[in-house]
Amino acid sequence: MSKKAPVQKNDYIDGAYFEDLTHDGNGVTKVDGYPLFVPNALPGEEGTVKVVKPSKGYGFGRLMERTKESPYRQEPPCPIYRECGGCQIQHMTYEGQLRAKEKNVRDVMQRIGKLQDVKIHEVLGMEEPWRYRNKAQVPVGEKDGRFVAGFYQKRSHEIIDMDKCIIQYEKNDEVIQHVKDICQNLDIRPYDEKKHKGTLRHIMTRTAYTTGEVMVVLVTRTNELPHKNEIVEELVRNIEGLKSIIHNVNGKKTNVIMGDTTRVLWGEEVIHDRIGDVKFAISARSFYQVNPEQTKVLYDKALEYADLKGEETVIDAYCGIGTISLFLAQTAKKVYGVEIVPQAIADAKQNAVLNNMTNVEFKAGPAEVVIPEWYDDGISADVLVVDPPRKGCDEALLDTILTMKPKKVVYVSCNPATLARDLRILEDGGYKTTEIQPVDMFPQTMHCEAVAKIELV
Ligand code: SAH
Repeated sequence: MSKKAPVQKNDYIDGAYFEDLTHDGNGVTKVDGYPLFVPNALPGEEGTVKVVKPSKGYGFGRLMERTKESPYRQEPPCPIYRECGGCQIQHMTYEGQLRAKEKNVRDVMQRIGKLQDVKIHEVLGMEEPWRYRNKAQVPVGEKDGRFVAGFYQKRSHEIIDMDKCIIQYEKNDEVIQHVKDICQNLDIRPYDEKKHKGTLRHIMTRTAYTTGEVMVVLVTRTNELPHKNEIVEELVRNIEGLKSIIHNVNGKKTNVIMGDTTRVLWGEEVIHDRIGDVKFAISARSFYQVNPEQTKVLYDKALEYADLKGEETVIDAYCGIGTISLFLAQTAKKVYGVEIVPQAIADAKQNAVLNNMTNVEFKAGPAEVVIPEWYDDGISADVLVVDPPRKGCDEALLDTILTMKPKKVVYVSCNPATLARDLRILEDGGYKTTEIQPVDMFPQTMHCEAVAKIELV
């Protein structure tokens, strides 16, 4: 049982030392082992904390005075950083961010994975950790009679109006401003979440890194988009590189952004991008990595760990639109990709055709169901690549790996904690984790991606 709080609300704690950083970017200090989470406090800093909300097991505090400052502290460059919930660690230098992420990976590998002697490399960071996101997706609303669009405030659904977001491509800022102006001029009603009224819910835009092709998606509550011809005309006139305008309808009361109906208003259904030598067609609803520069770094590392000689059969579980599958198919004999979203599999198949790759096969379904079926049909992998969502691999899939016994598993993870948990299961089943390479795909946030190389011993 978690112990009772040794502090009470409104207590002051002098000389609090911050030893860690949570996933939300809060500093962690401990009182007799009881953790207090404190905004705007960095590891290594000291100060006075006022207890704001003590709960069982952990509590929240406010930093009243800082007596020792971290060498990694900096002035956050974004003017709306404090209100906006998008970034968590802009108040930390980039070097500090990379160290914090590496420490986090090391900590979970020890604490959760019980992996003592695995080689963990320094995080591969970006040279320029700003303006890296190819995709912006913002809710729209109304404030004092004005049309606003931006991210939600921390822990709320209040929209912070945004002129620019310095982790997005400038092109995305430009597109959102145009859409805002056009909709304001044409009096398109912004969606009101509380009353479930109004028209435009979200603006999504994506710019392809290598080709500069731009897609704009307008998500409405209503089936019709009023003034659609004027909107199209204005967007086409103003946005260079525009290739696709999509209308998506989402009439539901939900936090999910896109609905089931998608129509092309103008141009193509997809935009194109390249990762290394592989081309991809990306549709409005496809999952596509948001940081293409670092995606290349990540996939190169996955390819290096797979160490393909040309004779291998590879399975890529959680394959999305086939990005890693096609990347590996450049050197593997055969690649099988599996993914739960049918539309993504349709995209993956098209992408194989786009690249004239005939040594790949894709199937829609849960990886934990499809891979055992493949195995029963005699399809077994020399190398198995997994890239699961944050919750990690399904246990049934890990069991299948232990039965199938591929010589190598390459685990691409967006959540070091579930990676550590799954590595422990593989280690107990006879595998050895030889290397882990964290890659920073999301500067200014606490997210960290990592690739692990796991071999049968
Ligand atoms: N490898 C891809 C996508 C990784 S994101 C890339 O790098 O672009 C994780 C993917 O796993 C998502 O596309 C999600 O739809 C898919 N997914 C989630 N649960 C799944 C399951 N049980 N089986 C197969 N795919 C799943």
